[in-house]
Amino acid sequence: MKNKCSIAIVGAGSVGMAAGYYLSKEGIDVLLIDSHDPPHDIGSHHGETRLIRHAAGEGEEYADLALKAQDRWHQLEKESKKKLFVPTGTLMVGERDASFIRKSVKSAKTFGLELEELTAAQIKERWPGFELPSHFKGYLEHSSGALLNEDCILAYKELALKNNAKLLAHTKVTEMKFNEDYLTLNTIKGTIYADQVILTTGAWTGKILSELNLPIQVVRKTLGWYATEKPLYKYPLLPSFYFSFENRKYYGFPDITGNGVKIGRNDSERDIEPDFFKQDFGKYTKDEQDFKEFVERFLPGLTSRISYGQTCMVTKTPDKHFILDWHPKNRNVLIAGGFSGHGFKYASILGEMISQMMIAGKSRHHIPDIFSISRNSLKNY
Ligand SMILES: Cc1cc2nc3c(=O)[nH]c(=O)nc-3n(C[C@H](O)[C@H](O)[C@H](O)COP(=O)(O)OP(=O)(O)OC[C@H]3O[C@@H](n4cnc5c(N)ncnc54)[C@H](O)[C@@H]3O)c2cc1C
Repeated sequence: MKNKCSIAIVGAGSVGMAAGYYLSKEGIDVLLIDSHDPPHDIGSHHGETRLIRHAAGEGEEYADLALKAQDRWHQLEKESKKKLFVPTGTLMVGERDASFIRKSVKSAKTFGLELEELTAAQIKERWPGFELPSHFKGYLEHSSGALLNEDCILAYKELALKNNAKLLAHTKVTEMKFNEDYLTLNTIKGTIYADQVILTTGAWTGKILSELNLPIQVVRKTLGWYATEKPLYKYPLLPSFYFSFENRKYYGFPDITGNGVKIGRNDSERDIEPDFFKQDFGKYTKDEQDFKEFVERFLPGLTSRISYGQTCMVTKTPDKHFILDWHPKNRNVLIAGGFSGHGFKYASILGEMISQMMIAGKSRHHIPDIFSISRNSLKNY
């Protein structure tokens, strides 16, 4: 094992792999280390598709990043010659006063993003696959859609390796130690010495930084696929969608890959210990029941029998904002994590920002204060 490098990236998943690509493009001697061989299904980046919306319901700070991220995904498509983004559009649907929708509309206004407002009747007329109560309304964002997330990671991986980045797969980092002018990473395969380290460890961020006692919660989420032969449930005849109603949040994608319509529930979750995570969809009756109820109510032309399901981990901070900041005790260590279930779409721009921070000490893009590791919500819990 080559055991010295300028920059080691611990965690070569969504954000780590993007950072590896950007650093390798600058000719930096970068070593990516991962417990598995990304893309894989034992973290937070599997399941075929991720929504990219620009009018962010998570807060206005994200809209600018989403637009830049979208641009970087297009650049990645060009460079890798792979199809990574599917322009399905994203339809937000729900009760008029749903807070997620209100925030998204506000963010669209602030950033001049185009959202088409639609009544329930107009939605049903345009996409007969949906059934909606008359008090629902919707907003269609034409320019957003679905990222083929595993292919995105693969594209960054292939380009990073082509640029001479090194990847140590199946190599868990068990400990990080600070020395005067270098950092030591103990792994299950030996010791690595690095000048600087990036921690992009997803669901394991709280564990690898246990001395900081960060209030990070890891939860299990479910995904389900519904096979269909009906064109009205396939791309391009159905948009990607996000439903917010009765304090519940579901999202989904048209059948893009031939595996069926994919549904996910955003607000139902169970705490999980990442080292014991495994694919166990169906372990709880609710896993399938949640989706069945949603499909029967809002997508009634679809079979309510699930083809298959998956589970995935989300790493939450108390305020659901990201952490992108230097380690409080060592400025040679950068932490990027706590993506709280909405991080994939930003992985491209986060990779670029991380690369700039490592090379120049700061990013050319604005980093919102809400990403600070010393913010109150990470202290006062
Ligand atoms: C079901 C589900 C649906 C989602 N939907 C969306 C969506 O529609 N839109 C969106 O933007 N986001 C979505 N997200 C969130 C998004 O997928 C995550 O925010 C993002 O993938 C997190 O990236 P990451 O790099 O932090 O983690 P990961 O991609 O999981 O990467 C972390 C990597 O670190 C490695 N690792 C951890 N510890 C160690 C160690 N000690 N040593 C070596 N390697 C280590 C892991 O093996 C892993 O490969 C969803 C998430 C889930 C689970």
